[in-house]
Amino acid sequence: MKKALVIANWKMNKTLEEARLFIRTIRDAFEKEKSVTIVILVPYPYIAALSSFCRGSNIDIGAENMFHDEWGKYTGEVSAPMLACVGCAYVMLGHSFRRGYFGEDDEEINRRFLIALKHEIIPVVCIGETIEEKNAGIMNTVLGRQVKKCFNGVKKDQYFWIIYEPRWAIGTGVTPQLEEIGKTHLDIKELVLEYYGKEIAERVPVVYGGSVQSQNVFDIYSQKGVDGVGFGGCSLDIECFSDAIAHAVRAYKDRPL
Ligand code: PEP
Repeated sequence: MKKALVIANWKMNKTLEEARLFIRTIRDAFEKEKSVTIVILVPYPYIAALSSFCRGSNIDIGAENMFHDEWGKYTGEVSAPMLACVGCAYVMLGHSFRRGYFGEDDEEINRRFLIALKHEIIPVVCIGETIEEKNAGIMNTVLGRQVKKCFNGVKKDQYFWIIYEPRWAIGTGVTPQLEEIGKTHLDIKELVLEYYGKEIAERVPVVYGGSVQSQNVFDIYSQKGVDGVGFGGCSLDIECFSDAIAHAVRAYKDRPL
């Protein structure tokens, strides 16, 4: 059964106690809502505790990143088998800040993507253009390159999420026009179809992220081609996030079949 998809990226925020309290509130508020999947990406040290805390609910816990190798002498890194053995269901790869601050490129993201799939962790892969790329009119070329490289080697029965996050929209309060969001999502789906075929293109959701708030989530999620919504700042605030989930579910249910 298809469901509304909501994803939160907490980045480097919250203590474990704050995280538990926050998640308990969301879990209790939406426990009867069967048509939503809520994925919360949390800092590594909280994954084990929060995954068992969420068991049996409609909230899944994910990691904000991981390394491309399984084991070895990589001081400070965390791998897919480590995440899998503590109940981590999803992993975000290629977030704009990882690309920007840590130089993770499409090839590196692809290595991580394949290893996450191998360990049955669902990769949520961020793609998106910078403001310079948008202004230079090369946005589609950039998205095409990212789609081609990041998912290279995927098998047609494998499942992952794409999250389209224009890099200039993250944390800025600025989003593309609604029609632009819809068009870009349809363009991304076309690119996935071209490179990976119909089965993957029909199954893999394309989620929008970048300055989504409780006030604009309904309109964004109502755009054709938008299969879910992602939150950074709003997902740290219980009121904003609860309202946003409720609006996202309403938008999802209102969509024409
Ligand atoms: C993000 O960090 O992935 C994000 C979408 O952030 P924000 O919602 O704050 O723009």
